[in-house]
Amino acid sequence: MPNDRIILENPCTYVTIGNMRKYVVLDLEWNQAPRGKELKTMPFEIIEIGAVRLDEDKNETDSFDALIKPEVYKTLHGINSQITGITMEDLCGQPNFCSVYKSFTDWCKNTDTFIFCTWGDMDLTELQRNIRHFKLPGLSNEPLMFLDIQKLYSIYKGNAKLKTGLETAVSELDISQDLPFHRAINDVHYTARVFKKISSPELEKKVSYNLFHTPSDRDHEIHASFDTYSKYVTRAFPDRYGLLKYKDLWKNECFVCGNRCRTKIDWFSSQSKTFLDLSECPEHGLQRSVIRLKKAEISGFYAIKITHSASDEEIKQMEEKSLACSQKNRSQYERKKHRVQKSNLSNSE
Ligand SMILES: [Zn+2]
Repeated sequence: MPNDRIILENPCTYVTIGNMRKYVVLDLEWNQAPRGKELKTMPFEIIEIGAVRLDEDKNETDSFDALIKPEVYKTLHGINSQITGITMEDLCGQPNFCSVYKSFTDWCKNTDTFIFCTWGDMDLTELQRNIRHFKLPGLSNEPLMFLDIQKLYSIYKGNAKLKTGLETAVSELDISQDLPFHRAINDVHYTARVFKKISSPELEKKVSYNLFHTPSDRDHEIHASFDTYSKYVTRAFPDRYGLLKYKDLWKNECFVCGNRCRTKIDWFSSQSKTFLDLSECPEHGLQRSVIRLKKAEISGFYAIKITHSASDEEIKQMEEKSLACSQKNRSQYERKKHRVQKSNLSNSE
């Protein structure tokens, strides 16, 4: 990796994590344009970067905090100002994003390899959008592996779909609330405390991937294996047709042992951009795979495939959906055939 890059832990590929790791907990505050006037490539302009470094026991060892003078959206949006309490006077004499980002990456370089931790999944995307807008060297050219502490908290609570606010989590865990919320530097302290309180080696295996950059080639594609499912992320293709023709995407491999599975219900499309398949590993049973096609942030299209054990309910649903899908295709085919026959007939008259 070039020297001007900060060293991130295992940005992609297979998840193999030792017990000894270090962390940079990151939080951003941003400003936005008046409604409808934002740049599509950078809807939010960062006005504060807050971060703390944690050792392997999740103790804070250092912190970074800087306010940023906005250069794109120069009026503070009412909502952002209300939430953060930051005013334009606070930001006027501050350095710009380029300068703060340079200090931030220099600060990050003062540690060994580390993994980013954030509350939710937005910060790393918005940070990279700002980096791109200001044409600065990126954090990585590959997907970024990180720990989404909000997601870990949901898993800790036993409901992976829950999206708890930081304030609620802090209160539920009886963490003392000695700092005002919604300032980046305070929110990272709280995020770090939540993380320390809930963390376990098992929970820390549940890494996330920020896909602002999709895998650059086949060797960098993500094959992540978790205890109850596997996740595969392809590289990006210039168009959907190229992606749909990519053979690796449609292979049925067991999420436990990686062996080829036997197809039970072949791939069908339940709604546009989503495909389903049911297959069977002789050792690990029936498995449901879902492929979702996505538009890449930079360019082109990529896909995410999730495979997990299929419940009886899911099997039943898939049988019904695949039947409905093939009936729909058949009737579309019949209508088309009928139209062709009709037009042939009228041409011959
Ligand atoms: Zn298997």
